[in-house]
Amino acid sequence: MKQIQLNNGISIPQLGYGVFQIDDLEQCEQGVRDALQTGYRLIDTAACYGNEVAVGHAITKSDVPREDIFISSKVWIQDTGYEKTMASFQKTLDNLQTDYLDLYLIHMPYGDYYGSWRAMEELYQSGKIRAIGVCNFLPDRLTDLIQSFDVVPAVNQIELHPFSQRRDLRNLMNKYRITSMAWAPFAEGQNHLFTHPILKKIGDQYDKTPAQVTLRWLRQNDIVAIPKSVHLERIHQNFSVDDFKLSDSDMTKINELDTGHPLILDVATYKEAYRLHHITFVQ
Ligand code: NAP
Repeated sequence: MKQIQLNNGISIPQLGYGVFQIDDLEQCEQGVRDALQTGYRLIDTAACYGNEVAVGHAITKSDVPREDIFISSKVWIQDTGYEKTMASFQKTLDNLQTDYLDLYLIHMPYGDYYGSWRAMEELYQSGKIRAIGVCNFLPDRLTDLIQSFDVVPAVNQIELHPFSQRRDLRNLMNKYRITSMAWAPFAEGQNHLFTHPILKKIGDQYDKTPAQVTLRWLRQNDIVAIPKSVHLERIHQNFSVDDFKLSDSDMTKINELDTGHPLILDVATYKEAYRLHHITFVQ
């Protein structure tokens, strides 16, 4: 599996397995187990997904050593602030049955994320977290965080797929060597991604599906991707993107699919965030 070096020198697998919206804990545990058996070594969860315990079970029961697995989790809005983030982090460790995290992220750019970042810097310096980062930070808040603290985020996890390519944000992130981590790499199926005629035509040249073409496009842009599926066949399919390479002309055609705006979550509108996570925003 291709690795990407973060701005603090540690490596992250370029392709991982996401567990958002796998609310059935047995199904989540099975999904992580299938992913690990397939070869995935990056698992992305979050406190607000309610399934960290299932992820922890799958990891502790697996034959893969803990140090070979890159685990990322996130602190949710209600737990922003120094004290609450410290407590939420410990709960995440307990849920996952581990004594360190590979990557810990601020989930949303809302609430007291300054306090959270202070806590995360401390946890990072003490070795409890190997890298810290953010999600859904747009240029203004990202710049503010970078200017106000010592540690530059290693990662910004953002909605990123062929229909929302975030070029301006990625250009800014490149300046600080902040790695892009694509959530909803398939746009959760919106815009008919899985049957999209252009992605399908490109894929037909290589006997690959639109999903695989999308993941390969992310790979060739050095973007970490964390597709989610509860189906074994798709978990395998999504992992099978090493054996072909998109041509420059294919890459250009996919670049032209950008709509210039996100399809799933506009972080400027709080209401979308509530709807997405079924959790009330508490001040
Ligand atoms: P996604 O990965 O773009 O899409 C998941 C959907 O695609 C599921 O409905 C899945 O169905 C289907 N699917 C997967 N592989 C497929 C294939 N090969 N062919 C056809 N359908 C396929 O969306 P996501 O789950 O929202 O995003 C991925 C991960 O990003 C999440 O799991 C989570 O870890 C992370 N995330 C982070 C944030 C954030 O704010 N930081 C927000 C959202 C998500 P089945 O499961 O039925 O196969």
